[in-house]
Amino acid sequence: MPEKRESESRKLLGRLRDTMASDSAGQARLDEITHLIAQSMQTEVCSIYLFRDADTLELCATEGLNDDAVHQTRLRRGEGLVGRVAKTTQIVNTPDAPQTKGFRYMPETGEEVFSSFLGVPIQRLGEAMGVLVVQSKDARKFTADEVYALEVVAMVLAEMTELGAFVSDEAGLSALHQQPKMFRGTSAQEGAAEGNVYLHEPRVVVSNPVADDPEIELQRLEEAVETLRVSVDEMLSGARTADKEQMQVLEAYRMFANSKGWLRRMEEDISRGLSAEAAVEKEQSVARARIGQANDAYLRERLHDLDDLSNRLLRILTGQGQDTGAEVPERAVLVARNIGPGELLEYGRNLKAIVLEDGSVGSHAGIVARALAIPLVIQAKGITTDALNGDPILVDGEQGIVHLRPEDTVMTAFKDKIAMLAKAQDRYTDIRDKPATARCGTTVALQMNAGLMADLPSLESSGAEGVGLFRTELQFLIRNQVPKRSELAALYARVLDAALGKRVVFRTLDIGSDKVLPYMKPQDEPNPALGWRAIRVGLDKPGVLTMQLQALLRAANGRPLTVMFPFVAQYEEYKGAKAALDKAVKREEKLGHLLPATLEVGAMLETPSLAFAPEAFFEEVEFLSIGGNDLKQFFFAADRENERVRKRYDTLNVSFLSFIEMIVLRCNATKTSLSFCGEDAGRPIEAACLAAMGLRTLSMRPASIGPVKSMLMRVNLDDLRAVIEAARDAGKQSVREDVTAYIRSLGS
Ligand code: PEP
Ligand code: MG
Repeated sequence: MPEKRESESRKLLGRLRDTMASDSAGQARLDEITHLIAQSMQTEVCSIYLFRDADTLELCATEGLNDDAVHQTRLRRGEGLVGRVAKTTQIVNTPDAPQTKGFRYMPETGEEVFSSFLGVPIQRLGEAMGVLVVQSKDARKFTADEVYALEVVAMVLAEMTELGAFVSDEAGLSALHQQPKMFRGTSAQEGAAEGNVYLHEPRVVVSNPVADDPEIELQRLEEAVETLRVSVDEMLSGARTADKEQMQVLEAYRMFANSKGWLRRMEEDISRGLSAEAAVEKEQSVARARIGQANDAYLRERLHDLDDLSNRLLRILTGQGQDTGAEVPERAVLVARNIGPGELLEYGRNLKAIVLEDGSVGSHAGIVARALAIPLVIQAKGITTDALNGDPILVDGEQGIVHLRPEDTVMTAFKDKIAMLAKAQDRYTDIRDKPATARCGTTVALQMNAGLMADLPSLESSGAEGVGLFRTELQFLIRNQVPKRSELAALYARVLDAALGKRVVFRTLDIGSDKVLPYMKPQDEPNPALGWRAIRVGLDKPGVLTMQLQALLRAANGRPLTVMFPFVAQYEEYKGAKAALDKAVKREEKLGHLLPATLEVGAMLETPSLAFAPEAFFEEVEFLSIGGNDLKQFFFAADRENERVRKRYDTLNVSFLSFIEMIVLRCNATKTSLSFCGEDAGRPIEAACLAAMGLRTLSMRPASIGPVKSMLMRVNLDDLRAVIEAARDAGKQSVREDVTAYIRSLGS
């Protein structure tokens, strides 16, 4: 019996394919398809409902219901049995539809005489595109075999819909991927951009869901699964056994790749007439639908793993999307689930904007996006499923909103916004050469953060007084091997050349945590942000640190040099790092190399412990820079990369501001110069409050200098300080509300 069904299934799919290949218009194809399915399933009714917009299903073709109802009958997602199938992406199989909970009577269809009902979702990758329904008069429940057969047909319909097979002016249908869609995410870098979608991991297009010869397809699947297994094993043997999370993912990959159930289901799909890729996608759709329903976080993660694995398998089968990131088209807006800082740097400045489904403001990918001044929206849920390569897209980095395939009116409004932002930028150009002097007469030095050679021209255009933080690790992250000393020396020399005598604070290598170098042996660390990173690595394994210090000394070649050590948590670490520098200086002297005219040495204050270091430390260190990104994460014990907890704690929280004030007082007592170089320095309101707490140097990304300067020029720091103190005395948790009210009272 199953064999008979299988051959029946194959026959039907073959006919569907012929229909698709025919010249008939979209509507004629749909009519023919419902006819073929009803005939093959031996039911009186077969109907196809497709989404007309995000929430409305429309009866688009039917065999057996009233013809007049076609394009008239509409249901909302969740309405009636059909709407329920679309909403839940679960089948409904009932012998007595009118008595089934949720049934909605549609008089125009004449369906009341049909008792049994089987509805399956037409879905692609977990996203419902419509519903396929068969009905008959006799009250019976459809067999598992019949359900399965209809699901396979629905899969083919989904592919056909995706390929636009039913698009016809007459019918007024549009494929789901042609509809405009808006995503509300979170802004991680301001700016607005218009461009075209470029998927970091492109979606594989299955152009032929129906196969001629199941034997050939089974063989193709078998070979592809074998290739997949080998690659997973290779990944596992080359993996960082230390990284528990990565190992967990890879083990899950291996489990799925060897899962008999997964393979068996795909083989069954093939024997019903699907091509190997369509079979993989069908199972992927099932997994995707489950992701949405899984309450358990662990299970959801594993389903994501299965999804990734299916993508890999699809790429092997189709040969598509292997060379991710190779060629970035013009006006590319990168769309991805998530991305690491190294990968993002590879794309460089070729991107107009970045949209991530996950991502976090405090991540290093976020910092790279800001360093590159590329608008970034994170937490745009569902965008990787919806977007197709080349789709027009508008990214509003101010509001964290993304418009995919926008309508003309949205496009026009957006262009106005881009023009307005450009105008605001012009305003900043007017104040570029003015000092950031507040109404009270206090001037704050504004410097910029950098990490790439390409950042240096901004020194001139932004009006920054110098580079307050040069993140040297970005150079290490974009390479496949440790850069040579001579290469680094040449690069640092070019940075100093481009700075034209302005001060550049070179921060020594800050790796570890999420900044993992591809060529370094990974560590087994349960908590890398609190792990072996930055100066801890430099002190324990001084090879790279020494090489870098030598490169810096040579790059200076008689010019002034400023070196800063990251992540110093206690005085001894600073002493150790300073000793390494002294040793490098002595060596250079011995070699007869020119020494820097002046050598300024400082540390980053990124852990609360350093704020309580002995007085001698503050006396010895020449300058300190508060790394607010890390300091805040450790102060509140809230991971900077975890949006959920990061968002809970405001920088303008009185505890944090009081802590900053304490650091200012300690530095003032020892006349140690102090700056702030975390991301908050680039946010106008936060920057003004930091200045009110006593900071006189702020270092930020170049694009923030204009807005921060403009804000500082508006406020009176004494008044602002009084507002902060009043809020603090009143026992407020955050001073934001009061500070915002004060700023508003100033007018524009
Ligand atoms: C910081 O922690 O604030 C900082 C500037 O360093 P990074 O963001 O590179 O860790
Ligand atoms: Mg840091």
